[in-house]
Amino acid sequence: MKAAIFTENDGPLSVEDVKPLDPGPRDVVVKVTASGLCHSDLSVINGTLPMPPPAVLGHEGAGIVEWVGAEVSRVKEGDRVIGSFIPACGTCWFCLHDQSNLCENTYTVMMNPRCERSDGTHLPTMTGLGTFAEQMTCDEMSVVKVETDLPDEQLALIGCGVTTGVGAALNTARVEPGSTVVVIGCGGVGQAVIQGARIAGAARIIAVDPVAFKRDTALKLGATDAVDPEAGDVVAQVQALTGGRGADYAFEVIGVPDLITQAFNCVRNGGAAIAVGVPRFDALVNLPTYPLVLGEKRLLGTVYGSANVRRDFPRLVGLVETGRLDIGDMVSSTIPLDDINKGFDAMKAGEVIRSVIV
Ligand SMILES: [Zn+2]
Ligand SMILES: [Zn+2]
Repeated sequence: MKAAIFTENDGPLSVEDVKPLDPGPRDVVVKVTASGLCHSDLSVINGTLPMPPPAVLGHEGAGIVEWVGAEVSRVKEGDRVIGSFIPACGTCWFCLHDQSNLCENTYTVMMNPRCERSDGTHLPTMTGLGTFAEQMTCDEMSVVKVETDLPDEQLALIGCGVTTGVGAALNTARVEPGSTVVVIGCGGVGQAVIQGARIAGAARIIAVDPVAFKRDTALKLGATDAVDPEAGDVVAQVQALTGGRGADYAFEVIGVPDLITQAFNCVRNGGAAIAVGVPRFDALVNLPTYPLVLGEKRLLGTVYGSANVRRDFPRLVGLVETGRLDIGDMVSSTIPLDDINKGFDAMKAGEVIRSVIV
């Protein structure tokens, strides 16, 4: 089968024929039908997220189960599934407390080698998935069955960007009806935060991004105002839109420490800033302490939208099916696996919300 292999930091991915390794009794083999190019894949390529090459990247995907091991009980051959980039065991303390995004057994399956290069090198897969391939072998805890007729490229986005963004608004921040929300960074995840805030009933949603077409997309997907950070100080622009008080919630969806501080400064006293983007692993955030303590402002971290994937994936599918969540407009282009490096070039140039391999 073909797979796109990460061979060196900052280099292009190498699309090669690889041989899948034999699956185990708890594994499933999935034909990948769609895979989104997420900024976190780029973060592995450029070293922001530490993962040693060589490996098969891709962690936002959907597919059809082709084979299941003897001990697999959650899915069967022919099921439509979405990959969960944080495997959810279903039995650890966190999974039993509705926080499968913090599953304690994730790392037991994440780094297993899953295929072999022509030179005999064994390749692990990103987050236990490796969706940049025609097929993936993974533990059954890494897939969630969904019953729907939605297009593959829309299902794929639920695997990372949509769940992360909508979940950050609904699960992590618990955005209240009538509230004011700022979203800094309007790529795939940022657009999903905007939609999550809209679904929650936010009255005012302020989209912040330097790229005009991303601001336009944000306005189409539910933002009420758009702010260009190159047109002046973002905090001042947000203050001007919120009666000088600041927003109830501000989401940072890029992963830049100074912008996390900026999100914090966009929030009113008693409000919450939510750090969604993944910064460099060794980065630190500066916060003004008086607003933190005396202004009772909160800074919340969130991973995978605080999602319980077996609850939330079907829930998000339902929101798309009833027209309340628009994933179709988040898919900027569909491309073949062979064009994956062009897809990352488009991402770096800020030309797309999401490219999806189909
Ligand atoms: Zn992702
Ligand atoms: Zn668990």
